Amino acid sequence: MPLLEVENLRVHLPVRQPHLFRSSTAYLRAVDGISFRLDAGETLGIVGESGCGKSTLCRAIMQLTGISSGKVLWSGENLPDLSQQEMDRKRSELQMVFQDPTASLNPRMTIGSAIGEPLTVFRPDMDQGSRLQAVQEMMQAVGLPPELANRYPHQFSGGQCQRVAIARAMILKPKLVVCDEPVSALDVSTQAQIVNLLKKLQKNSGAAFIFVSHDLPAVRYMCTRIMVMYLGKVVEIATRDELFENPRHPYTRALLSAVRHSRQAGREEARIVLAGEVPSPMDPPSGCAFHTRCPHASQWCRKEAPLLDEISVGHQVACHYWNDLAAEEPAVRTASPV
Ligand code: SF4
Repeated sequence: MPLLEVENLRVHLPVRQPHLFRSSTAYLRAVDGISFRLDAGETLGIVGESGCGKSTLCRAIMQLTGISSGKVLWSGENLPDLSQQEMDRKRSELQMVFQDPTASLNPRMTIGSAIGEPLTVFRPDMDQGSRLQAVQEMMQAVGLPPELANRYPHQFSGGQCQRVAIARAMILKPKLVVCDEPVSALDVSTQAQIVNLLKKLQKNSGAAFIFVSHDLPAVRYMCTRIMVMYLGKVVEIATRDELFENPRHPYTRALLSAVRHSRQAGREEARIVLAGEVPSPMDPPSGCAFHTRCPHASQWCRKEAPLLDEISVGHQVACHYWNDLAAEEPAVRTASPV
């Protein structure tokens, strides 16, 4: 049984639309029918442009936002069916690291207290001495000297605050850690340090990780499997090596070509530049949601949404033409709007 199984998950957020004499409600399809599974100890990367639903998906898995339909099965148990009390008990197994470390820490709490707080809540059996020792060990594990435990978050840099937030998430030895863009608010050199730290902690703890990022090289370094999202849907999911070496969806190819292009500075290599903006999730295009930006779109694409097909073991793609595009060399064409 997988550790986490997400089945046809939908999060449609109501948005009030004021009119002159009355208002109406439209629905923003932040997550629109997503299914995937995650095994214990696995690291799944989630990539896609801003607004594609990555963060909402993370919050829905963690039950920090309501879902419209679908299932979030945690060791076979559907989390949305649990009472608040039952869910609170589960929280020691599922932890989250947020994008903004300073916003996720209480400015009036010393970092030692912040890291030890989950133990106070979930491990009332521990005495104060054992708690203090666990906090000091956790601080060392994330690269913070234990003698800084009595300082406050404002006395730390952004990178150090993120280390505190990671220590707080890891101290209960969770089975799943969801990292929602944990490095995007940090400067470039600190980003690499935090990604290295997360990778080391994942390896040492054996916990499953979900790692959301715009930084494809970081995702490649960190993750064993990668899921590509577009407009609330999964368009491709595969193992890391398969996705980078054999991308089949035109959107994945465009994302990867940007990375390859930047790494090939000084060499002639065409980059796939996607035309136009991501359409509004309140009014997604008909058929394949990517058809308004896809250089291969046909009448079929405009009418019928492709299913997520398993094209080889563990490699799923949602594109009518994945097979025809397979022979094409990726990263050699420039897209134009249809
Ligand atoms: Fe492009 Fe059509 Fe494939 Fe969608 S189904 S990605 S529009 S070729």
